Amino acid sequence: MIKKSYPEIMKILCILYDDPKTVMPKRYALDDIPKLEKYPDEMTLPSPKEIDFTPGELLGCVSGELGLHKFLEENGHTLIVTSDKDGKGCQAEKELIDSDVVISQPFFPFYLTRERMKSASNLKMAITAGIGSDHLDLQAAMDHKVDVVEVTYCNSRSVAEHVVMMILSLVRDYHNQHRIVNEGGWNIADAIQRSYDVEGMHVGTVAAGRIGLDVLHKMKPFDVHMHYFDRHRLPESVEQELNLTHHESVESLVSVCDVVTINCPLHPETEHLFNDELIGKMKRGAYIVNTARGKICDRDAIPRALESGKLSGYAGDVWFQQPASNDHAWRTMPNHGMTPHTSGTSLSAQARYAAGVREILECFFNDSPIRDPYLIVKDGELAGMGAHSYSKGTTTGGSEEAANFQK
Ligand code: NDP
Repeated sequence: MIKKSYPEIMKILCILYDDPKTVMPKRYALDDIPKLEKYPDEMTLPSPKEIDFTPGELLGCVSGELGLHKFLEENGHTLIVTSDKDGKGCQAEKELIDSDVVISQPFFPFYLTRERMKSASNLKMAITAGIGSDHLDLQAAMDHKVDVVEVTYCNSRSVAEHVVMMILSLVRDYHNQHRIVNEGGWNIADAIQRSYDVEGMHVGTVAAGRIGLDVLHKMKPFDVHMHYFDRHRLPESVEQELNLTHHESVESLVSVCDVVTINCPLHPETEHLFNDELIGKMKRGAYIVNTARGKICDRDAIPRALESGKLSGYAGDVWFQQPASNDHAWRTMPNHGMTPHTSGTSLSAQARYAAGVREILECFFNDSPIRDPYLIVKDGELAGMGAHSYSKGTTTGGSEEAANFQK
């Protein structure tokens, strides 16, 4: 293998979402955010040598620069930040050609296809500022020896909170009731004709990794029956503590659950997993909450199932492509509780993944090892978390349609 040369001065391309439509906030809703000590499994939070940002401030948009500007500039590197990421000839595509490192967030993904990767002969590393590296052609990264890393755990618990919020709001039909209030109405019968208690329902997660397991922990106090399907079984002690029913297949899980939450990565094994056939095996009137990746669900099958009443509700924050086209059917389908891709980019989560990116870059520049759990692809192979959670191949097909979104 030919080792890529590592110049002293590097070009870092950072693709971030647009600034607020008005101005960057001068004052935030809260004066500070809680300081967390550790993740539940004892893994330490990102620990760079220093940070140059205030935790709790907007970092994921262009002006936030992930808090990297000072650090990179002082070390002589070039930082290019842009939100122009889709369509032929976009700024990100042009800048990629001679970049050494590319950073992108799943909320506003720069789709690093094989073609784009081929154009970037200096590219050594792609950093996902967040979790989930399906916006990159992982097979191409392996073939081109581009390392892929993400900030494992940084926003898993943020997403789990969003999942719980979405389960409750779908089952209780919050969106409809909120709309009635905003419209000046008070028809209680209209407000509750689709509203149920979650208590006593069967709630199941597809995957019980960091997010899936945290959702189960968070749902326990609601006195529901809990189910999971995962490629690896949880320790018996955890199954007992949470009174979990394990399923050998996703079909078995969906056939008994009132609420199904999807928490697995998107990779060739899970692409379009929730299609007409699998949805056909669900209980009539079940709810789906998908904060994992939009492409795990078939884009047309979901509205069909909501319209027929097979599904009572669908919520999530993930779409394919992102940004979703202005006429994406999930924007207007009945009984949905969609948000833009926000669950993992709360201001709290941003502070963690910005620190994680800084830690990764510090290691990279000093040629010291990046934590194993952060690795997805290393030296042409799936590695670390990548070897555990992904399969070979790519799921970026069709991503060029993201260019259809009109601001
Ligand atoms: P983890 O790696 O901790 O968990 C992923 C779990 O998925 C693992 O337990 C893995 O199982 C399981 N899994 C993988 N493939 C399958 C499969 N085919 N069937 C069933 N289970 C499978 O990751 P997180 O929980 O932190 O995150 C999960 C995903 O959530 C991310 O990959 C990302 O796509 C999404 N995410 C979304 C965010 C958002 O903002 N909406 C933010 C963060 C993450 P095993 O290890 O046993 O193979």
